[in-house]
Amino acid sequence: MTTVTRSSDLACDVLVIGSGAGGLSTAITAKKQGLDVIVVEKEEYFGGTTAFSGGVLWIPGNRHAKEAGVQDTREAAVRYMRGETGAMYDEAAVDAFLDNGPRMIDFFERETSVAFLPTLYPDYHPDAPGGVDVGRSVVAKPFDARALGRDIVRLRPPLKTITFIGMMFNSSSADLKHFFNATKSFESAWYVAKRLASHLRNSLYTSAACRSRAATPSPRVSPNRRSISAFRFIPAQAQRNSLR
Ligand SMILES: Cc1cc2nc3c(=O)[nH]c(=O)nc-3n(C[C@H](O)[C@H](O)[C@H](O)COP(=O)(O)OP(=O)(O)OC[C@H]3O[C@@H](n4cnc5c(N)ncnc54)[C@H](O)[C@@H]3O)c2cc1C
Repeated sequence: MTTVTRSSDLACDVLVIGSGAGGLSTAITAKKQGLDVIVVEKEEYFGGTTAFSGGVLWIPGNRHAKEAGVQDTREAAVRYMRGETGAMYDEAAVDAFLDNGPRMIDFFERETSVAFLPTLYPDYHPDAPGGVDVGRSVVAKPFDARALGRDIVRLRPPLKTITFIGMMFNSSSADLKHFFNATKSFESAWYVAKRLASHLRNSLYTSAACRSRAATPSPRVSPNRRSISAFRFIPAQAQRNSLR
């Protein structure tokens, strides 16, 4: 990721406004299609609301559910969405969502470092027609944020209200289960120790990155539009080189 310094530099095939899940998914997909992409973000941080959300994706028919042997069908998902949306039901939109949601999971797992985990979350109304107790919700697998290099300081920090000593819990339910059992089970105590150690390591890394970035302030698109920063996607290898 690079920062563009002048608005005259902004030539691209695809201009994405906003760096939340919607914007970055679009940007990554376009980039994987060989297009030159620029993501423009008005905030100091990238990540949008997505960066401090619970991160649970509701994707009926995802491969993780199939691999776990969850009994579910497309017809059941359609029935559920028909009931939940009532008069707002849009058949074309539901079909597109059910066709492409699982493909999106496969795409990101195949083409990027993103991986997903199944969760134990039920549908909001599991007893409604077509609802299920488990299987349709997945969450992003924890990612070692140090791979972002110095850009880690530009990732939107989590909400204080949903963190513990600055650490955000993973919605896969594994975190909560182990933190509650830490004094009762060796496996949970070991899990918690590893989570805390990794959080400490990341915090130290982020502090060091902050100090390094403070020494070289990030440039803006234009002195007249100081609230806009733009990120150009560049190949991963070039990113790694630029961080050395
Ligand atoms: C605490 C919390 C927990 C949540 N948990 C879940 C969950 O578990 N599952 C779920 O599905 N949803 C959840 N949500 C909702 C979910 O986070 C949002 O629906 C989702 O992140 C929206 O993604 P987005 O890409 O559309 O927008 P955002 O992630 O908000 O990204 C939009 C970006 O666009 C930028 N932007 C806006 N206007 C401009 C402009 N003019 N120029 C440049 N940049 C601009 C913004 O600054 C922002 O960075 C949660 C929300 C919250 C607050």
